[in-house]
Amino acid sequence: MSNYKKQTSSSKNQKSSKSQKSSGKPQDSSGKKSNNHYSKKPNNIGYYQKQKTQVKAVCQYLNNEGKGIIKDDKKSIPIDYLLPGEEALVEYQQKGHYFDTKILSLIQKSKKRISPPCPYYYSCGGCQLQHLNYEAQLEYKLNTVKALLKPYYPVDSIISMDDPSHYRNKSITTFGRKNKQAVAGFYKPYSHDLVSIDNCLIQDKVVSPIIATIKDLIKQYKIQIFDEDTEKGFLRHVLIRTGYYSNDVMVVFVVTDKIFPSKNNFVKIITEKHPEISTIVMNLNSRQTSAVLSTKEFVLYGDGYIHDNLCGLTFRMASQSFYQINPIQTEKMYNLAIEYADIKSTDVVLDTYSGIGTISLIAAKKAQNVYGVEVNKAAVQNAIENAKLNHINNVRFVEADATHAMIEMAKEEFKVDVLFMDPPREGSTPEFIKAALELKPRTIVYISCNPETQARDLKLLTKKYKVEKAKAVDMFPHTNHVETVVKLQHQNP
Ligand code: SAH
Repeated sequence: MSNYKKQTSSSKNQKSSKSQKSSGKPQDSSGKKSNNHYSKKPNNIGYYQKQKTQVKAVCQYLNNEGKGIIKDDKKSIPIDYLLPGEEALVEYQQKGHYFDTKILSLIQKSKKRISPPCPYYYSCGGCQLQHLNYEAQLEYKLNTVKALLKPYYPVDSIISMDDPSHYRNKSITTFGRKNKQAVAGFYKPYSHDLVSIDNCLIQDKVVSPIIATIKDLIKQYKIQIFDEDTEKGFLRHVLIRTGYYSNDVMVVFVVTDKIFPSKNNFVKIITEKHPEISTIVMNLNSRQTSAVLSTKEFVLYGDGYIHDNLCGLTFRMASQSFYQINPIQTEKMYNLAIEYADIKSTDVVLDTYSGIGTISLIAAKKAQNVYGVEVNKAAVQNAIENAKLNHINNVRFVEADATHAMIEMAKEEFKVDVLFMDPPREGSTPEFIKAALELKPRTIVYISCNPETQARDLKLLTKKYKVEKAKAVDMFPHTNHVETVVKLQHQNP
């Protein structure tokens, strides 16, 4: 690094960089400026860098967001789309919590670099790893998990997909206008710049043709598209959920007003053109929040639910309930979790963060009794319906915050033999874990979509438990996300 030449340039244009350079800020013998703009606040998170920096560097590794780390003045700079071992001339500018970066020229290319299969890859930002071949994506994810879980278990395998495309059963398309034309797509990361996308590589193939029809109907019926700045307009998003095994399709229009212009014609045309649509729902959300859906819904067509089959059971869910987004990998992940749980017929099983009851109901086939705890009301309702739908009656679902429920159960010295925990990305809480240690289940199976928070929680759990098995699952190919399943066994049962 020290031999590489570094330059700075104005954030507005390159010309001023040259004038700045010629204005002659002193450079030391290594080619680095002696008073660079970081000197006052080195490596400061949240720092706004006035000027862009250009530097030639070699990428050392990929960080947890899939960005290539270079070292500049001993600072770690995350460069978008740069791969380990690659040498490049790059430009970066720190803008608060993130870095705006660009590869100006790639000098040494990685053998693992491929041409991204999706034409929108570099503008969309929904995927982070399409420039890396699939095998290398798996290697990167396994290494990430390996490093994070190293103190607890030597993770050595990741469950891959045979065909890592079109796996998502849920898509959220945002609508906007560009040059008076309806645009449907996704926001660029860290921005409200809508990128028009006609075909997404990771979404279910049924999505794009339905969105194309909706775009035509918007024109035909002069539907007002919501404008984020003026907060006026009608249509905000379209959410599409598909049942991989059932072939059900749910379309949810997220709108700002109960009065849907030309509703009947709209529904008639779209369902005639797309007979695969089994239900249409209108979700009323006029609030300025990042949540796409509100709890106010009206069914416009069908029964307002979608069904899917997993591990020999049928699951029914509403638009707002959490459901794993990759059905092929979910089945593999659930089978692994059930294998790790090693449930006996006399066991009491507790499934925390239970969603629509998938794990609870699969476990119920083996256990004496199962309790599911979930905070989302619609999901709990679906879980109860799913127990009935599958004629399972040794399961009870409780609508509660998982930490509160665990504390209460620990107070009551509730008997739990096997505990499943599948928290959201932020992981569990120290209070939950303290209660889990008091409840003393024989086995804990911890499923996580964020190995960083999982590693943090394992530190507390391993005071009494030992990690016996762990595997990574590639639930989200082409993105930087990875799922993990960990089996913990009590050391003093
Ligand atoms: N095990 C389920 C759901 C996992 S996703 C499945 O495999 O489908 C995590 C779930 O935790 C979501 O359903 C979410 O609504 C729920 N959740 C989030 N915070 C919670 C909390 N504090 N207490 C209970 N459930 C919570």
